[in-house]
Amino acid sequence: MAQNQTSPATKRISTYLMMIVLIVIALSIVSLILAANAYLIGDGLTAGFLAIIGLIAMTMSIFTLYQSRRQAVQMKIEMPKVMTTIECKKCGSKTVREYQRGDYVYKELDACPKCPDTKQIITAIYKEVKEKEKTYNV
Ligand SMILES: [Zn+2]
Repeated sequence: MAQNQTSPATKRISTYLMMIVLIVIALSIVSLILAANAYLIGDGLTAGFLAIIGLIAMTMSIFTLYQSRRQAVQMKIEMPKVMTTIECKKCGSKTVREYQRGDYVYKELDACPKCPDTKQIITAIYKEVKEKEKTYNV
């Protein structure tokens, strides 16, 4: 039970944000419906006013959703990947793939695609570190 509480704070914030966005979207839909009603009645001024409010609210909420999703994607990308290097001792072919559970150095894997009688061996497991762009103050 306790292991599941990894980051309750961030989760609560995003749920809270989602709720606000959904409420704003609902309100904007209501105001657009009211605008259509007012337009049908012949109240052009109220219709225009409600339509503008509805459109602004909807644009803002969609923008907020888009922004929060982009942040989530960025956070995912920044997490360093663990990579596994696989080598064939016979032909020297090297392949790099994402770490899989159970990988360890010198573990024997499936046969090499080029030499079916030789098994490929894991030669390295490492964390992929992306080089950050260096900034120089001139
Ligand atoms: Zn080979």
